[in-house]
Amino acid sequence: MMRGIKAVLLDLDETLTDAFTGLRAARRAVAGRLHKYLREHGIELDEEVIYTRLSEFDDKMAIETKYNRDEWWPELLAGFGLKQKVPRRTVRQLTKLYWTTFARANKPFPDAGPTLSYIREKGYKLGLITDTDVEPGLKLERVRRFRFIKLFNAVVISGEDIPETKPSPKPFLLLASKLGASAGECVVVGDKPFTDIKGAKAAGMRTIWLKRRDWGIEEKADFTINSLAELRRIL
Ligand SMILES: [Mg+2]
Repeated sequence: MMRGIKAVLLDLDETLTDAFTGLRAARRAVAGRLHKYLREHGIELDEEVIYTRLSEFDDKMAIETKYNRDEWWPELLAGFGLKQKVPRRTVRQLTKLYWTTFARANKPFPDAGPTLSYIREKGYKLGLITDTDVEPGLKLERVRRFRFIKLFNAVVISGEDIPETKPSPKPFLLLASKLGASAGECVVVGDKPFTDIKGAKAAGMRTIWLKRRDWGIEEKADFTINSLAELRRIL
């Protein structure tokens, strides 16, 4: 057991679920649609070029915590040289395509369920903290698809249950209060240094960085692990 810790707060995407698979599929689908759209507007670009640019753009938006896909597409298309205004209907279709493809391809990591069961059996309270997908209700719908959700004592969708998203400490503190724990009794597990770890530290919580990839942004955590299964040696 981790001394003085009552509750374990976990992030969802890329922490419990293999968001890479979801992201890749979503970017593929959208790149195909953008390719077609640009061609219809006289811009001929290799689909692979569009995919690569979209992937870079997606990562950049994640770092800047700009989650509203509706705002992405006009900016991205303008970057490809499109002069015309992108109709609202097209924007909505692209966002819908992105999220439905993402949800279908986004699977839990194999060690997610067993590790969550282990944490519960150890007597910790379990909390899920995840940022909104901007479309109201969409994130909750995505969350409910996972069987492991029944293991959680409380869920906070930041940006919906509370206006602030990570790295604000507020959603972390809201989840702690739902779990009946003080900030000092919580440890946060997340994959993103600039949202999960930064926010948890601002809330006064202990931190475990699950290093799925290098973001090129440093934020010192109490522990660094490379897989969920490694939580067994800390918790
Ligand atoms: Mg994440």
